[in-house]
Amino acid sequence: MNYQNTLEFARQQDATDPLKEFRSRFHIPQHNGRDTVYFTGNSLGLQPKATRDYIGQELDDWARLGVEGHFHAQNPWLHYHELFPSLLAPIVGALPEEVVAMNQLTVNLHLLMATFYRPAKERYKILCEAKAFPSDQYAFESQARLHGYEPADAVIELAPREGEYHLRTEDILAAIDQYGHELALVIFGGVNYYSGQVFNMQAIADAAHNVGAFCGFDLAHAAGNIALRLHDWDVDFACWCSYKYLNSGPGSVAGAFIHQKHCTNPALPRMAGWWGYEKETRFQMKPLFKAIPTAEGWQLSNAPVLSMAAHRASLDLFAEAGMEALLAKSSALTGFLFHVLDDINAAQEVKMIEVITPRAEEAHGCQVSMLMLQKGRDVFKALSDRGVVADWREPNVIRVAPVPLYNSFEDVWTFGKIISEILGK
Ligand SMILES: *Cc1c(COP(=O)(O)O)cnc(C)c1O
Repeated sequence: MNYQNTLEFARQQDATDPLKEFRSRFHIPQHNGRDTVYFTGNSLGLQPKATRDYIGQELDDWARLGVEGHFHAQNPWLHYHELFPSLLAPIVGALPEEVVAMNQLTVNLHLLMATFYRPAKERYKILCEAKAFPSDQYAFESQARLHGYEPADAVIELAPREGEYHLRTEDILAAIDQYGHELALVIFGGVNYYSGQVFNMQAIADAAHNVGAFCGFDLAHAAGNIALRLHDWDVDFACWCSYKYLNSGPGSVAGAFIHQKHCTNPALPRMAGWWGYEKETRFQMKPLFKAIPTAEGWQLSNAPVLSMAAHRASLDLFAEAGMEALLAKSSALTGFLFHVLDDINAAQEVKMIEVITPRAEEAHGCQVSMLMLQKGRDVFKALSDRGVVADWREPNVIRVAPVPLYNSFEDVWTFGKIISEILGK
């Protein structure tokens, strides 16, 4: 696309945006009586206006029916979780039986590692990206300890080359080959939360399988943000949260994917609970666990319906908009942001902003991470004062994510204009 860093260009793009109606379906936080430029959908997605009604329905049914709501609520709670596979499958590129909404992200990571991190004599190492999200680091470290290993020995963290900001796929694949038969598990983020780099999941999964390791992904920053084809890529497992790009509210119910070739195997070891038990006989409450032969077989507890109601409100919007249209707009919006930042850099005598997110189309989602070479804190403060909601990461990175459901090209232009004004002074 031929981008121009002007308000007219931005408004023209917004006018012809096929998804433009969706912005009005969200509550946009206000600053001095005007819409903020909300660029932190990668951290907490905005609230759909419909969410209140979806939750209200469950509150009303609970008030009206009490325990009978399990069977007679408009959406009977006994089966509430069954509403999700068809909504989540297109977002992560899975078969419906491979996905389940349950628990929260770090909990799911542990549950899936209970199944897929099965260290044995020689093969006990976990390969992951350096600077993984802290919760993931703690999960890997504690899983290693749980099995009697020293994390310093069992957890291998891959960092970018000296002077580079992201990992080269060739280096990841070479490391997988190098550790080979020592690897029990290869686990990466789908999108690195700091740099915004999208990893080549298919290549990583193939390489892991070639050396006999399992391969999983934490999709916290990927679900609802980038194109995913977990089933076709032959990924063993994945998990994600719903409150970032999936707009389902703080701490809302998370998701998990287990490849069909695994979930049809009820003999796979796991942490079990009654909600993962074969449905026909669950209420006979017999001893000896019998797993449901789908991703539901990893469920522990009955469905948290109130948080799931918020999740549904958002996923219904994703279904209405369609992933393909969302990804097309995302690509255009982020392309425009790259252009605006280049334009700002070109106007300065010394470079002010190093964009550390990869430019290649397949290597970024909507998040852009800006390493501030000068005046980082001043810029960040001035952005906040002028109604831009962005995110600061130590030591000097500003992360912004124009998301296609509710951000506009004008948001991106406004963001660039404010930065230019601050740097111009
Ligand atoms: C946001 C995020 C988390 C947060 O974990 P919760 O269990 O939802 O609190 C974990 N891992 C990654 C990669 C994240 O981006």
